[in-house]
Amino acid sequence: MKIHLIGKENSLLLHYLAEIRDRSIQKDRMRFRRNIERIGEILSYELSKELNYKSVCVKTPLGEKETASLKDEIVICSVLRAGLPLHLGVLNYFDHADNAFISAFRKKNAETDELEIQMEYLAAPDLQGKTLLLVDPMLATGMSLTAVFEALKRKGHPREIHIIVTIASQSGIDYLENMLPENTHLWIADIDPVLNENAYIVPGLGDAGDLAFGPRL
Ligand code: URA
Repeated sequence: MKIHLIGKENSLLLHYLAEIRDRSIQKDRMRFRRNIERIGEILSYELSKELNYKSVCVKTPLGEKETASLKDEIVICSVLRAGLPLHLGVLNYFDHADNAFISAFRKKNAETDELEIQMEYLAAPDLQGKTLLLVDPMLATGMSLTAVFEALKRKGHPREIHIIVTIASQSGIDYLENMLPENTHLWIADIDPVLNENAYIVPGLGDAGDLAFGPRL
């Protein structure tokens, strides 16, 4: 897997990350969603440097210009519901992309006490030959992302896969490295060291879905 840690240098990305982590600023849900969207836009721009382009000749009002335009057919896939603000940020840049949505959530098995991934809903276009952008704000264990990747296999084989993550745990990255094809790109804003007993990233930011959309039962 090719890992791109975009937050390793000072940039506005770190400013937005600091705001989404800050528990007093988090009270403003609109700012939380918008900052995640902006992080999606920044990561999209960075990953766009790895995509494929074709030569085009554009007619301006004053002449012609040989330049480049995006060749890849993009599909953006996110996990409901926490993935929606990041999805929107990515879609802001890849405005011609098709979109896929999947519901996946972590549930503790009452008998074994193990975390399991439950999936109920999948709406996706044909992925054959496409460039798949898999969007997930929090890469904790990596189990949901690999379950989503497995579920998407019945929709065709993407040519390239890019995973876009706001905050990743080191163990989640290690898990994906073992489970996903070698040529997968992982675009991360920041890496945190620890997962707690409920598989939340520490220090992380808390529950991204609740912070964006409010608590659930
Ligand atoms: N999902 C979240 O919303 N937060 C975490 O820390 C891990 C998974």
